[in-house]
Amino acid sequence: MSTEALVARDLASVWHPFTQHSLWAYDRPLVIESADGMHLVDSDGTRYLDGCSSLWVTVHGHRVPEIDDAIRRQLDRVGHSTFLGLTHEPGIELAEKLLATAPSSDARTLTKVFYAGDGASAVEAAIKMAFQAKAQYGEDRPLYLHVAEGYHGDTLGAVSVGGIELFNHTYRPILLDTVMVSSPGIRTAGQSPADRAEEVLAEARALLAEHGRRVCAIVVEPLVQAAAGILTHDASFLRGMRELADEHGAYLVADEVATGIGRTGLMWAVEHADVVPDLMTCGKGLTAGYLPLSAVLATEEVYAAFLGGPTSGRTFFHGHSYTANPLCAAAAIANLDLMAERGTVAHAAHVGARIEELTAGLAAYDGVLEIRRIGTMTGIEVRSVGDRTGFAVCQQARELGVLIRPLGDVVVLMPPLAIGDADIEQLVATVETSIRTVLG
Ligand code: PMP
Repeated sequence: MSTEALVARDLASVWHPFTQHSLWAYDRPLVIESADGMHLVDSDGTRYLDGCSSLWVTVHGHRVPEIDDAIRRQLDRVGHSTFLGLTHEPGIELAEKLLATAPSSDARTLTKVFYAGDGASAVEAAIKMAFQAKAQYGEDRPLYLHVAEGYHGDTLGAVSVGGIELFNHTYRPILLDTVMVSSPGIRTAGQSPADRAEEVLAEARALLAEHGRRVCAIVVEPLVQAAAGILTHDASFLRGMRELADEHGAYLVADEVATGIGRTGLMWAVEHADVVPDLMTCGKGLTAGYLPLSAVLATEEVYAAFLGGPTSGRTFFHGHSYTANPLCAAAAIANLDLMAERGTVAHAAHVGARIEELTAGLAAYDGVLEIRRIGTMTGIEVRSVGDRTGFAVCQQARELGVLIRPLGDVVVLMPPLAIGDADIEQLVATVETSIRTVLG
């Protein structure tokens, strides 16, 4: 079918996420038909470098034979069977493998895995667990402490602990009760990241002095507020939040949906700060970008709060039809195996370092306000020259064969972890050309 016909059918029947449909048709929708390696191919046969990892999920690239085979092998056994009251080997094996990668300290070990579907549903489960665990330990703690500019997904609980005003303000009347500190990633001119971290920690200390006994969890994106525009912050912020959570008897929820599975150059972003959370979410790259699967890793202390007799009411009454879908689990196992075999996490650190070298010239260009990076996550904040400058840069890059997505006027580079040097060079060169073309 022709591209025009497909677009017409899309316009007639489909409602896209985060999309202003009065503009959608004019923005020339791209119809993706196939992919291989680091490239996506549209319905006219044009190839594009996947510079945003298909929204931050792709790890080894597309159509990876080992992962394709793992899913096919699982298809020959069973496509789906419920995890409510039954279990299966892929679900068990993946939990073991995930826990084996998880950070631990003398004080804390993550010992249990609860599966969910998308990132938001993992966050939703984690914040319900925190509240219920405290309640079942006899503490009434109906509040969450979270961070301005944070993003944890679009379900109501996740929105409640988010802090991006544009996404949140409409829903304010129907959100959970929270207390919020400022973003550690937004600094005044000349302020050091460490000083900013300390300033926001002081805010958190003051809020907890007043509300601490009612807070069940502190919810953070470790080291980088991704959706806010790759707003990085000092590791001391996470360490400080860990200490404050301990001091006030709250759980620390680290949302590793964007940062986890090697994205920041370490398996988990919390490792940059030597912090072990009580609850840790992951999603996105878990299945290497193949299928929707997310998880919450919990400490034994959290898990134990849910143990009791059949009528104790302590069960975690939470789950989904497709919880731990075996096809998703098979993809995730194949992904973690490939990552271990190929040293993908170390490679991701190399990718980040290479992007930093290659963007050094761009950092000096007066159309660029700031370049922020951690591992393979890079945000290039450009000077606004109109309504949708970031978008215009990405449309220009698309013309040149690279797919990226902006966050406002922050141009985001988030290639698959396994991207090779030649593709990194093409990605950065194209983005640089596109920025210079749009900003003049
Ligand atoms: N948490 C974080 C930190 C995220 O960046 C995102 C998505 N960008 C989510 C949660 C939500 O994940 P999903 O879109 O899979 O629901």
